[in-house]
Amino acid sequence: MSDLFVEITCPNGQSYKQPTGLFINNEFVAATSGEFVESINPATGKPICKVHAAGVEDIDKAVKAAKAAFPAWKQMDGCERRDLLLKLAALVERDRDILGALEANDSGKPKDSNAVYDVDEVVALLKYVAGWADKLEGSVIPAGPNKFAYTIREPIGVVGCIIPFNYPLAMFGWKLTALAAGNCAIFKSAEQTPLSVLYFAQLFKEAGFPPGVAQVVSGFGRVAGDALVKHPDVQKIAFTGSTATGRVIQKVAADYLKPVTLECGGKTALLVFDDADLEQAVKWTAFGIFYNMGQICTGSSRAYVHESIYEKFLQELKAHVIAEYPQGLPFEDGVVVGPQVSKAQYDKILNYIQSGKDQGARVVLGGKVPDRKDLQDGYFIEPTIFADVKQDFKIVEEEIFGPVISIAKFNTDEEAVSLANDSIYALGAALFTKDITRAHLVAQQLESGMVWINSNNDSDVRIPFGGNKMSGNETRELGKFGIEAFTVAKAIHVNLGNKL
Ligand code: ADP
Repeated sequence: MSDLFVEITCPNGQSYKQPTGLFINNEFVAATSGEFVESINPATGKPICKVHAAGVEDIDKAVKAAKAAFPAWKQMDGCERRDLLLKLAALVERDRDILGALEANDSGKPKDSNAVYDVDEVVALLKYVAGWADKLEGSVIPAGPNKFAYTIREPIGVVGCIIPFNYPLAMFGWKLTALAAGNCAIFKSAEQTPLSVLYFAQLFKEAGFPPGVAQVVSGFGRVAGDALVKHPDVQKIAFTGSTATGRVIQKVAADYLKPVTLECGGKTALLVFDDADLEQAVKWTAFGIFYNMGQICTGSSRAYVHESIYEKFLQELKAHVIAEYPQGLPFEDGVVVGPQVSKAQYDKILNYIQSGKDQGARVVLGGKVPDRKDLQDGYFIEPTIFADVKQDFKIVEEEIFGPVISIAKFNTDEEAVSLANDSIYALGAALFTKDITRAHLVAQQLESGMVWINSNNDSDVRIPFGGNKMSGNETRELGKFGIEAFTVAKAIHVNLGNKL
């Protein structure tokens, strides 16, 4: 087998052919950079394989392919684009099991309780945006006697989509919206998790997408990502990742007046009022911070609980996590919590845990790596619950991006809102109450881009996703807002006879 494909056997015995090249013009090619990204299995710390890393020249090649494909893709009847996206969805459904397995191997997500759901998310997204491909309409605007204008929604052109490590398939999936709107795209995976999207790339060709419509490349952020942001023929960047990198990208893109969709960090606050359904509040709280090992931008890493139910909530949350969030290897039956994605993330999270202890937080659960011998080489951290935290603790102020929740008590509704809003981030917020008036009044006062009433981290491809303050800009992914963000409005003025 050439070095553009390697045979990989996952720990559960499933074997498959992993592409390692850059997917440009519907073919895998070697990178001219001569550089590689090494993919590591986070459950063992051992390398899986190396994939080609795009350099500046490679990005230029990918952009040229997308630019050449754009006029025909833009002109294509939306119904044809819809059918291609539906065909792609069917192929992803067909390959659900292998995509789930290779994602579990590469990212550490437990296969059956986590990785396969990311595949389902891509399918849901593809079916949803396929429905938009033939429904992008404008409007007619009367402009006095004998004059009017109409607007059309046009694709932007070549777009660069930069993908994070926490949801390699799902975040790539959200950005497939670009294609439904008639753009051609270059998708760049995160260094830690290049494998699933490269495997996926073959499905574009199999579904019948014309060459050049979708490129998939691996590569380093400061090289390949930066080259995409700086390329004059890339007319938009859609980015999901850390706030630090989002700031860099917005600055670089500013030189080219390039629009950017930014979906960055978060510090979701979750409020539990005294009249809440405690069992539900406990379940959703755990889900929002311990699912996906807490590597969730909307992870509910802060909870504020009414003082009258504070201790009860802590004990019930602890019991629920012990019972429902077993930790182990990604291919082990019944496991919900796997390893963190990389050694760097593992070290960072353990430092935060130490700082929580040093600053005086009470450890209710976890706060360490697991004792199991067979987990020692991987990047495993126990689900951790801290109580009695103060607003100026580092674990309360900063995004940890791991399985760590910080909990404090409140007394009045005003205090709860003020604590929730006391953050540089404003991505998600959640609240639990049975009082309908309180629920909506509080939801409106929370500064975040999304609020969940009596649920948490419950996303849906039909509902806009995004944040304010240091969590992003005014752009949104998903839903109608998501497809509009990949289009521009053109106004066409019509004069039926007025003479100048
Ligand atoms: P993290 O710090 O959590 O790994 P990043 O925000 O750095 O997350 O990475 C998210 C994505 O952004 C990855 O695909 C990464 O390669 C890319 N990236 C990192 N730095 C840059 C940059 N300077 N320009 C463009 N993309 C970048």
